[in-house]
Amino acid sequence: MWKFDPSEPVRLVKDMVKEGVGLLSNSGGNPYYIYPQVTRPFDKSSYGIPTPEEHPLESIQRLFYLTSVVQEAAGDVPVVGNGYSWLRNFLPYAAAANIKAGRCRFVGLGRESFAYPDAPADVLKKGAMDPNKCCITCSLCTQIMRDHGTTGCVIRNSKVYMPIYKKFNAEAVEREHRS
Ligand code: SF4
Repeated sequence: MWKFDPSEPVRLVKDMVKEGVGLLSNSGGNPYYIYPQVTRPFDKSSYGIPTPEEHPLESIQRLFYLTSVVQEAAGDVPVVGNGYSWLRNFLPYAAAANIKAGRCRFVGLGRESFAYPDAPADVLKKGAMDPNKCCITCSLCTQIMRDHGTTGCVIRNSKVYMPIYKKFNAEAVEREHRS
């Protein structure tokens, strides 16, 4: 498991807070990186991306730790936690535990908000998320991004995003063949 070196981000956070920044969000990397699990743990990888040796829960643990370090450095300034989508309908429980423990003040949803934009409303109104509406961490939305398209959920909103996924992937394959 990779280790996170907090020294540089902690210094940056403290400097930003000193300069008056009032809200922070953090991540561990970006989805274009060769190891996208650093920031978005998944079950199925994008094309050409190696399957990580670590379990997605280890990736999530690292992200949660990173956020807790940033929140501690930020003091009273709220930090938005991330890295929850792989947890599917168990996401609210991890979110509640992290907020209760002071490891973050908010929880941000990325892929989950593509797949299931009503998730927060369902948690508030019904007390739970519907497993059949959750993101399945298939990385197809990441693939659209990597292929330079405008992305969304290919699985839960396939009418809109499956044609986009196919178009941009075909173009990416053609570019690769030409180069
Ligand atoms: S395409 Fe949809 S189900 Fe697949 S990872 Fe993206 S948001 Fe999740």
